[in-house]
Amino acid sequence: MNDIPLPSNADQMANAPVKITRVECIPLHTPFKTPFKISSGAAREVVETLIVRLHTDQGVTGIGETQAWRRQGSAETLPNLVRTINDYFAPMLIGRSPFDVAAVMHDFNNAMYNTLYAQAPIGDAMYDLMGKILGVPVHQLLGGKCRDKVRIAAVLTMQGTTGSLIDSAQGFVEQGFRHLVLKIGNDPTMDLRNVIALRKKFDNKILIRVDANAGLSYDRALSLLTKLEPYDIETAEQPLAIWDIDGMAALARAVRMPLMADESVSTDHSLLEIIGKRAASSFQTKIAKNGGIHYIQKLWHVAAAAGLDINPGNHPSTSVATAAVAHLCAACPHPVMAGVFAVGVSGALATDIVENPIIPVDGEVLIPTGPGLGVTLDEDAIASLRIDV
Ligand SMILES: [Mg+2]
Repeated sequence: MNDIPLPSNADQMANAPVKITRVECIPLHTPFKTPFKISSGAAREVVETLIVRLHTDQGVTGIGETQAWRRQGSAETLPNLVRTINDYFAPMLIGRSPFDVAAVMHDFNNAMYNTLYAQAPIGDAMYDLMGKILGVPVHQLLGGKCRDKVRIAAVLTMQGTTGSLIDSAQGFVEQGFRHLVLKIGNDPTMDLRNVIALRKKFDNKILIRVDANAGLSYDRALSLLTKLEPYDIETAEQPLAIWDIDGMAALARAVRMPLMADESVSTDHSLLEIIGKRAASSFQTKIAKNGGIHYIQKLWHVAAAAGLDINPGNHPSTSVATAAVAHLCAACPHPVMAGVFAVGVSGALATDIVENPIIPVDGEVLIPTGPGLGVTLDEDAIASLRIDV
């Protein structure tokens, strides 16, 4: 047996010398351009964004984004995210290497389970740091580049009238979008009318996805989706409540259109339940909901192994979390669906917080090429949106 001597500095080589020295929480109120309405809750005026900036002893910093969405299974508030990070995660992080992302995320989960919204910006900031230290974009850390750009879908929020919905859809189609996600679930008569109007207006030039955001009962979903079937719906997203996986599985057998799970999937265990019960044909991830890049890459691998289609999504986000998903897409060797991960930068948000925002072109997002996430915070924008919590 060959005795291969380890280099004398193997310990140092295994751990980059850079150490995290400070965890900075930056809570923001990021305004929507127009109030954002889905099946649950009132229309929203702002996104409660939290940026985490990690400082190091080498001067290089890394950023990640999460938000207090407070719907669809999330009970987050900005103050509780900041307290969780400052009081519990920061002491566990100080002195660690940004290259220890798997160990750090594992420690967070052991210390405080079900804190994915608070873990997301830290893990993603560690990836941003690793990329900046090595001078490579994050997708190089995730397996390398499989695509240069990724097609995205636009979201049609609840508009009040079919006319204004069609106007909104027309705007997206003129921008080059071919995938439209229609929010449904409050008024089946209007949902049907909207789908008929979209199909009549755009014929087969668009793909129509419908998203009930967990807002329907089984019987209402069966009734509505059956009526929508003749209009060639690509996928019906999360028709039923988060907890009703058995209902989703029964519905998947009762309707012809494929179903997608979104709110029902937070961890790898909830994904395994969807797979085991064949409750959906595809599933959607979001940076905040699923805990950031580290966990999402794992979920995508599990889904691909099970033959589940991957939908790269996001809550409405700034270019920071949008970039995180773009890098995941870049490094994914499997097909990815046209996801809604760029809805925040496709017109939903009134402003962005980086100097080099991601701007979709022709319904596609180009993969950022700069080191780390490839986006740089705009300090003036941060100062103007910052709030005290
Ligand atoms: Mg959804």
